[in-house]
Amino acid sequence: MKPAGRRWAVVPAAGRGERFGGRAPKQYERILGRPVLSWTLAALLAERSIARVVVALAAGDRRFGRLAESRDARVHACRGGAERCVSVANALESLASVARDEDWVLVHDAARPCLQASDLRALMDGVGRDPVGGLLAVPVGETLKLAGANGRVERTVSRDGLWRAMTPQMFRYGLLKRALALCIDRERSVTDEAAAIEALGLRPRLVRGHGDNVKITHPEDRGLAAAILAARVRG
Ligand code: C5P
Repeated sequence: MKPAGRRWAVVPAAGRGERFGGRAPKQYERILGRPVLSWTLAALLAERSIARVVVALAAGDRRFGRLAESRDARVHACRGGAERCVSVANALESLASVARDEDWVLVHDAARPCLQASDLRALMDGVGRDPVGGLLAVPVGETLKLAGANGRVERTVSRDGLWRAMTPQMFRYGLLKRALALCIDRERSVTDEAAAIEALGLRPRLVRGHGDNVKITHPEDRGLAAAILAARVRG
């Protein structure tokens, strides 16, 4: 019998990071001498209530096995897919023999190495009793412009009620599996798990996180992440 109420983590790490454009996929770029994915996994492994962390990898990934965290008994790997949602769906499938539908799954981008323990706790506390689940997010602070032709402003978009979605995103195992399967089946493109849940007509809860949980997308993001992590290491 599967034990009740366990918590799982999934890290999609099968992307090529084309917008980053480095020599290595961005999850293996080094920050303070340590690969991005290593920081990311360490942040999740520090949360002892997570029973297993499944990392979805690109075919032929030879870098993962060199990470110290890959030898942690709670870390497992699976094959990723051509789309992020397929990578996450594969990771969920690899948990099928141990996870129950009502267990919580936390999905966290490989490219977000600066997750703070307090944000992870805030998400788990904020969503733990929610019927739908939710995600870390931050209200938009900047004024937003809609681009028109020739790089000119078409108009200013109201930022009222707009939030930037981050990860982790936390949903029940069975619900998330169903939501992703439906998106894959209908070839509906989603860039996060919440969007797949929304497509079922459900409304994920927004839990306010910190803006320093940055995602490494462009080359300049690496310097920002390095500064955030260096400040933490210094205490
Ligand atoms: O490209 P983007 O930054 O949105 O990717 C977010 C996360 O999804 C990254 O951690 C990336 O490695 C992962 N991903 C994946 N499989 C894909 C595409 C992206 O696991 N096919």
